[in-house]
Amino acid sequence: QTMYAMDVWGDGFFSINDKGNVCVKPIEGMDISVDINDVIAEALAEGSTLPLILRFQDIISSRVKRLNRKFREAIEGAGYEGVYRSIFPIKVNQLQEVVAEVIEAGREFDIGVECGSKAELMAALPMIGSDTLMLCNGVKDHVMLTMMLNAQQLGQQVIPIIEKYSEFEQLMILADQRELKPRLGVRVKLNTRGAGRWYESGGARSKFGLTVPELVRLVKILEKRGQGDCLELLHFHLGSQISDIQVLRSAVKEITQIYADLVLRGVSVKFLDVGGGLGVNYGGDYDNPESSINYGLREYANVVVYAVKEICDERGVPVPTLLSESGRALTAHHSMLVVPVLGVHRPDSPPMHDETPPDSPSVVSRMETAYEEARSTDVTGILLECYHDAREAREEADQLMRLGYMTLDQLAHTDSLYWSTCREVLQKLAAAQLTPPPTEQLELEEQLTDLYLCDFSVFHSIIDHWAIQQVFPVMPLHRLQERPDRRAQVVDLTCDSDGKIDQYVHGHSNTSWLPLHSHKHGDAYHIGIFLVGAYQEILGDAHNLLGRVDEVHVYAKEDETGNFWIEETLKGICIKDMLSQVQYFPNDLDRRMSELIRKQINAGVIKAAEGTRILNNYTKRLDESTYCTTEVVR
Ligand code: PLP
Repeated sequence: QTMYAMDVWGDGFFSINDKGNVCVKPIEGMDISVDINDVIAEALAEGSTLPLILRFQDIISSRVKRLNRKFREAIEGAGYEGVYRSIFPIKVNQLQEVVAEVIEAGREFDIGVECGSKAELMAALPMIGSDTLMLCNGVKDHVMLTMMLNAQQLGQQVIPIIEKYSEFEQLMILADQRELKPRLGVRVKLNTRGAGRWYESGGARSKFGLTVPELVRLVKILEKRGQGDCLELLHFHLGSQISDIQVLRSAVKEITQIYADLVLRGVSVKFLDVGGGLGVNYGGDYDNPESSINYGLREYANVVVYAVKEICDERGVPVPTLLSESGRALTAHHSMLVVPVLGVHRPDSPPMHDETPPDSPSVVSRMETAYEEARSTDVTGILLECYHDAREAREEADQLMRLGYMTLDQLAHTDSLYWSTCREVLQKLAAAQLTPPPTEQLELEEQLTDLYLCDFSVFHSIIDHWAIQQVFPVMPLHRLQERPDRRAQVVDLTCDSDGKIDQYVHGHSNTSWLPLHSHKHGDAYHIGIFLVGAYQEILGDAHNLLGRVDEVHVYAKEDETGNFWIEETLKGICIKDMLSQVQYFPNDLDRRMSELIRKQINAGVIKAAEGTRILNNYTKRLDESTYCTTEVVR
């Protein structure tokens, strides 16, 4: 568990059982431990294919409850005379089953939803009744504003949050046309800037929000119309994955002062919305703020509750209902990606143990000496010297080969000895546990790292790793009672050199390689990529036309038939549908393929029966997954 730092990122949901398999305990307070390998086996037996998303729906529910309970505890502890409601921003994961699970789990806490675009608004409107609070952020045209006013007329609790002053003007015109008193909120541009990758979402230069002068102008207009009570909500958003809790504290204080001023001048704002940004600990180093945070749920709740109460008490105003638009923190943990290893590429050549080829130039014997010396010493200085000598000899051998002064046998012998020297030196340096490790050791680790080719696309399934170097926990899902003996890097199917995972949570730091077990081609070896439930699926792209993967939705339960059930299986995109998205249509492809085959039959290149077999094979594959199969021909 510590090798892969499960204790840092697992949040109590994941563990390893005595068979060496990764298990999930998705329901808080219940001791049901589901072996992830059993889930994979059942999903495959029911027709799913790898790579596969496993969605543990109970984890969503556990996270929703945990967040809301932490706020309830903070409210009780502080004697806060108000309540907290969490608002789920559906942009984090729009899948209907995910949103429904959040709403269901949050019912007892009066959870609400947030949407940020026209399509999200239209997806969410029919899903909420008349009690669920719904906030609308993002740029709003008159079509969206009209839909929100329609919803208000229907009695739904829909509040547009004004991001630009012109939205307010449009909203008031539309409301006047139907003689309605609109409900609205305002996003305020605070001076506090965020902390973390998305810090520019907050601060005076952020893309969205009203400046304080714009807010005052808006308030004065409402007051003039005798509609001060239309402004129900104040909101700020510092950006996702806030890395430093002090920044949040400062922003909460700033917005609460604005709230208090408004209340004192008679504008009875009801809700104070501290936006998203509640972070998740992915196990990143401290110098990687996209992947680590310096607080937990309890501290987050305490900071919000106590800061608001302190200022309201000082200013003598009633406390507002607190809202947070936490998304990542509710959904990141619930889903994981299972990827099979398709093959392993070892960059080093294996030892050849051959005699020295005849007539070898002196560089060959220099390489032999470097290897022998590395074998016979443990002294760091001498080991480094052996490595330097071997490196220099290899470069020289390369040049001699290019000039035609070395035979293939001589080069192979030298190359093989070079790698044997590297392995010897690295093994001994690693055993010495020098801190900090010499740069040569890091260089050798990189050179001697195996590439584990896995059936997935970084660009589709964990795009934040490619785009912003976010760290995701990665580890084998089985064989964990065996010590992993290989240094490995996971690479994907795409033809892009960026299609790899090059930062891992390893022990309690991040490394460019991960310990994995030796793998034999054709054997099943499954790797899990964890905490992918927030943003990744919807941001992912179709690089190399590798699209949506299969997924199963799993619930834990305890009865005589086992301890989980697969509630739903969704097929990933097939080749035919993927191709249609880029304007290749199956009928046309089929027609072209059969013409091509007919021509070859007519020209006598193949027999008619062979032609039919080739065409059928092509047509059948159009309905299959865009990913590889793990079956091998034996
Ligand atoms: N609210 C707004 C306005 C956002 O832009 C976002 C995303 O950045 C969120 C909420 C959700 O943030 P998070 O997933 O970090 O909680």
